[in-house]
Amino acid sequence: MKPEVSIKVNEKFKADFAKGYPLITKESVENAEMLRVEGAILRLTDKQGQFIAKGYCGKQNKGFGWILTRNENEAIDQKFIKEKLAAALAKRQSFFSNQETTAFRVFNGEGDGFGGLTIDYFDGYYMLSWYSEGMYTFKADVIAALRELVEFKGIYQKKRFDTKGQYIEEDDFVAGERGEFPLIVKENGMNYAIYLNDGAMTGIFLDQRDVRNKIKEKYAKGKTVLNTFSYTGAFSVAAAIGGAAKTTSVDLAKRSSSKTIEQFSINNIDYESHDILVMDVFNYFKYAKRKELKFDMVILDPPSFARSKKYTFSTSKDYTNLMKEAIEITADAGVIVASTNSASFGMKKFKGFIDKAFKDLGKKYSIVEEFTLPSDFRVQKEFKEGDYLKVLFVKLQ
Ligand code: SAH
Repeated sequence: MKPEVSIKVNEKFKADFAKGYPLITKESVENAEMLRVEGAILRLTDKQGQFIAKGYCGKQNKGFGWILTRNENEAIDQKFIKEKLAAALAKRQSFFSNQETTAFRVFNGEGDGFGGLTIDYFDGYYMLSWYSEGMYTFKADVIAALRELVEFKGIYQKKRFDTKGQYIEEDDFVAGERGEFPLIVKENGMNYAIYLNDGAMTGIFLDQRDVRNKIKEKYAKGKTVLNTFSYTGAFSVAAAIGGAAKTTSVDLAKRSSSKTIEQFSINNIDYESHDILVMDVFNYFKYAKRKELKFDMVILDPPSFARSKKYTFSTSKDYTNLMKEAIEITADAGVIVASTNSASFGMKKFKGFIDKAFKDLGKKYSIVEEFTLPSDFRVQKEFKEGDYLKVLFVKLQ
């Protein structure tokens, strides 16, 4: 049995919880000192002791726990978890039956009714990401439920919470049979190499699937494409398969080069006819300006925050400047794919950053495509922060 803790909700936040807001923050409760037993079941009431909701305690960067039900009689047990998983699986049936795409998100935390856990599917393997120690206390129930609901080759996990140095991430294998890595998955007919046993990252960000497909299908043919913050080169591969004249991938991480070569190679693309550069994007912009290079397409998908030897980049402060750098090396009528995964601002503000860049340079543009999270990354409408992805295709005039 899990311990149960009574939590008094701050009056100001009562209406939000009643409406379905799922995240329990420090400010939203009167007795925050009670939010320390990871995995405890939380019973939220108002000042008068009237029941509001039940949740669990799990400290992660976003808050101290998640609401799970507003039904007082519903127990948070294996049956509860199985129902949430079953509902989530049912909503992904079209993905399971699509042979062209074998990697997608099966369970998206609060968007599927249980914040703190995501599950991704990679061609028969399930990868669980635990976002707090509290969430991790449900592990046995989650695995048991998964065993009852699906057939799998294997289950892997990632602990995405502070383990205080106790946990050596030598192996993330949980159940079934071990995979052979890289695992080659398909996405809209393209191949991608995935590693489930190699640290926090797997090799591609599944939430950009629709963006990669749009580049491949509609924008790449015959074009020169610059992919900045390119990581494993997933966007470059999509552009190359879509018929790009040439792609240039730039990332400062040393491993990005061999990873990008691998992604090209498993798609039978000659990586030597593409440029793969290990360098700081901001230095590359300087180089490209000096050489008067212009690209038909520039892809900008920076991390929310990054620090290199010379530069610090924070999306919410520096996107306008980043965009200006990109505009200056984009050809007339070229397209900039401007992307951010920052949850700290919404689409309107993001469009503002882009608009300011063009105004500052006295140039005109139009937005030709707009993306948020794909349908497998389900979001809860009461929790706007969960809908973090914003991607705009901006065409220069
Ligand atoms: N766009 C990629 C994901 C980017 S992840 C994709 O869709 O696959 C962020 C990447 O930015 C990391 O690989 C990191 O190494 C790189 N990075 C961070 N700061 C950088 C900088 N100043 N210059 C070049 N790359 C940088």
